[in-house]
Amino acid sequence: MKADKIKILKTAVWKANMDLWKSGLVIQTFGNASGADAAEGVMAIKPSGVDYDECRWEDMVVLSIDSGEIIDGPLRPSSDTPTHLALYRAFPAIGGIVHTHSRYATSWAQSGRAIPCLGTTHADYFYGPVPVTRKLSTDEIKTDYEANTGKVITEYLSAATNQPFDVPAILVPHHGPFTWGKSAADAVHSAIALEEVARTALLTLSLNPEAVMPQELIDKHFRRKHGPDAYYGQKGEKS
Ligand SMILES: [Zn+2]
Repeated sequence: MKADKIKILKTAVWKANMDLWKSGLVIQTFGNASGADAAEGVMAIKPSGVDYDECRWEDMVVLSIDSGEIIDGPLRPSSDTPTHLALYRAFPAIGGIVHTHSRYATSWAQSGRAIPCLGTTHADYFYGPVPVTRKLSTDEIKTDYEANTGKVITEYLSAATNQPFDVPAILVPHHGPFTWGKSAADAVHSAIALEEVARTALLTLSLNPEAVMPQELIDKHFRRKHGPDAYYGQKGEKS
């Protein structure tokens, strides 16, 4: 892989990690963003345990998506790397992944509850509820925990009919959210949107536990931003 391509990928992933940090969704070193170059068969991710304010673009670690071998970078990759690899292997259209322990999305994950679609903000980004995966088994927790976290996510997405981009987010029970997109920057946008809808859904249900959003309003808001009939934004703009 050519040095200029490695630099482009590492810089994009570094910027996504910085944007994630500035968004306030990550505390200390909990959280990471990665990005893939599908044509080259590689992904780049934040190094393990390095403070965000000390991270330089050079520190991003580039790995082969197929083998998981490190191709470039001086440091060890994030310990969540096997989770990211599992998603890139199963869904080559995914170009970026973000994992956080953001407060509200993590609260839904810890409760084992899907986030219901209750408003247009939610429907603009996620076409229906943000689901929860199954729990990991005892064996899956004891051995290859991070890879098995990827396994429960890809297992869910493979069985779903409308994935991966209709709902670019999922919750892992007792853990937290994973989001994705066409690029690392896209995945950061999904993570920020997810935290907002997780917060407003909780507040909505505390005010009205019976709140339900009409399906036609969900359809209207998702489809005006996504898919063949999208008309939101300026011409040529994707979202
Ligand atoms: Zn985590």
